[in-house]
Amino acid sequence: MKLTGRIGIIGGTFNPIHLGHLMIAEMAQETYELDRVIFVPAYHPPHKHDDVIDAQYRYEMTAAAVMDNPKFTISDVEFKREGPSYTVDTIKYFRSQYGEDKEYYFIAGTDTIQDLPNWKYIHELLSLCHFIGAVRPDGSAAIEKIIEYFGDLGRERIHLLEVPLMQLSATDLRQRLRTKRSVRYMIPKAVVQYIAQHDIYKK
Ligand code: ATP
Repeated sequence: MKLTGRIGIIGGTFNPIHLGHLMIAEMAQETYELDRVIFVPAYHPPHKHDDVIDAQYRYEMTAAAVMDNPKFTISDVEFKREGPSYTVDTIKYFRSQYGEDKEYYFIAGTDTIQDLPNWKYIHELLSLCHFIGAVRPDGSAAIEKIIEYFGDLGRERIHLLEVPLMQLSATDLRQRLRTKRSVRYMIPKAVVQYIAQHDIYKK
């Protein structure tokens, strides 16, 4: 198997992880021939926001979701830091782990790409990694404006990826779980089992 030296990273709250996340990671892996895609669950301070469950659960659900794909893996780098993480630090960490000679691609939905102008150290981050913006069916597809906002750096580093549109969000799925509606075929089977076993997303 030929290696390209390209590494994908997908960060998120993953509260819980769903097929929308896995699908954009798969499409990015295929299109950019990424050697691997690393899922990075974000740390979230306990009790800060009632709707985000403990990082340990989110980490274990994400691990269960990526287990059956040899190109997918998980990292605890943000969740172990136990404080707010800037993506720039996470990318620097992976660059030190896997090498400065590799190319790094941060995979995100277009709603995240829309928000990039507000990110801390965004210019430094754009010099360290590429962004793949997977179109999300929430009206946030106008990323050309964002690319133009960053000028040459944007044109070089931010890439729009057309993917099958999946109208899934963790917010809606939490609502379904709370009201005991089905999440089958929206959340991976192993994660549905994990949620039942750990009795989470009840309130
Ligand atoms: P919430 O509803 O709780 O805000 P979410 O479903 O947006 O959660 P996150 O963990 O915040 O999930 O998302 C991680 C990344 O995956 C983000 O960049 C987000 O834009 C992207 N993403 C999530 N769902 C989809 C989807 N259905 N299609 C494309 N991208 C998605």
